[in-house]
Amino acid sequence: MEQRPLGNTGIQVSRMCMGTLTMGPLQAGLSPEEGAELIVRAHSMGVTFFDTAELYDTYDHIAVALQTIPRHDIVIASRCYEYTYDGMKASIERALRAMRTDYIDVFGLHEQENSLTLAGHAEALRCAVDAKRAGVIRAVSISTHAIAAVEAARTITEIDVIHPIFNLRGIGIIDGQTEQMAEAIAAARAAGTGVYSMKPLGGGHLLKQAREAVSWVLAHQFVDSMAIGVRDVRELEADVALVEGRPVDADELAGIARDKRLFIEDWCVQCGACVEACRQGALSMGQSRPVVDYSRCVLCGYCVARCRDFCIKVL
Ligand code: SF4
Ligand code: SF4
Repeated sequence: MEQRPLGNTGIQVSRMCMGTLTMGPLQAGLSPEEGAELIVRAHSMGVTFFDTAELYDTYDHIAVALQTIPRHDIVIASRCYEYTYDGMKASIERALRAMRTDYIDVFGLHEQENSLTLAGHAEALRCAVDAKRAGVIRAVSISTHAIAAVEAARTITEIDVIHPIFNLRGIGIIDGQTEQMAEAIAAARAAGTGVYSMKPLGGGHLLKQAREAVSWVLAHQFVDSMAIGVRDVRELEADVALVEGRPVDADELAGIARDKRLFIEDWCVQCGACVEACRQGALSMGQSRPVVDYSRCVLCGYCVARCRDFCIKVL
């Protein structure tokens, strides 16, 4: 698989970044051993870039994979929601410990929205920059669903990498359209920021046109790498073939094109935490439990993580 520089970070990444949210407890619920098997398989197919986050709870999956894959063979990206210096320090330490590694390639701030949220995380950012100076992380990142955050990040020289939502229909962008997001990302990349995009398939909305959706993202030369979440070998093989521009067997495409849905259990206590967590406005409180607006849901799983009663699953 083609490798590219991740902006000016000095880090080389495969064109496909394998997302691990989908294999973890928020979605497929694979055990660390099962998840590691998928990671090792992806690595054997040329994928060298793996995305996780504290929220996804897949550090153990990566740790098990690292018993087989030499650490320097792969690039690991993670992030957290911390906003204080000490919170960020503790989060980086947790990640190092859990993945049993002495460095993380890309680490940063999860789900930034604009210059105000970035300002609110200034202390956490300062800690990440110190960790980079100490050699514990190699590049500082943000992830975002917002054009405003991409624009703001470009002006903050400490941010080396952005992980923005980017797909053919602009699904999941919270403050504008695809063209504006493309402009903002292009400007950031031109300034040397590394770009690995997320959700090329719009959280499932573009599954029926997966080939077109993946090619569309990759045709944008400012995208260094593109993260796709993987749940099983069938999806992995189809995704790698799509990224490499190889023909994909109809059965394999059907494998990734299966509909995924949020399932909300009837023991929901209507606390509303999931509704509050959804930045896409896809959840509203119904009579006995939240109701999902599937035209807005991007299957990010953030509502799943907020439910203390384990009522929501992505199936
Ligand atoms: S409903 Fe849940 S999975 Fe869907 S977009 Fe909202 S937070 Fe993400
Ligand atoms: S967070 Fe869980 S318990 Fe609370 S409203 Fe949502 S589904 Fe129900």
